[in-house]
Amino acid sequence: MILLACPNCGPRNVQEFRYGGEVRQRPDLNTVTPEEWADYVYMRDNPLGVMREWWFHRAGCGLWFIAERHTKTHEIQATYAWSKGPS
Ligand SMILES: [Zn+2]
Repeated sequence: MILLACPNCGPRNVQEFRYGGEVRQRPDLNTVTPEEWADYVYMRDNPLGVMREWWFHRAGCGLWFIAERHTKTHEIQATYAWSKGPS
């Protein structure tokens, strides 16, 4: 069983969660070109190594959060709530 630690609920079976894709910077809607938008919507980096991903605790608290997962070993190195950072 793979465990994923929700920042609110702690370690839970990964089947309680929904994968939301890699964390990507959304382009500025005022300046994005059609090619840049298509790249954002359809293309993925798919790296070998640690990747930042969105996860949703669908069978728990309903939080969307970020997990840092190694794409080969599936080792979860960190999970944390999303933040805009310092403003
Ligand atoms: Zn939770």
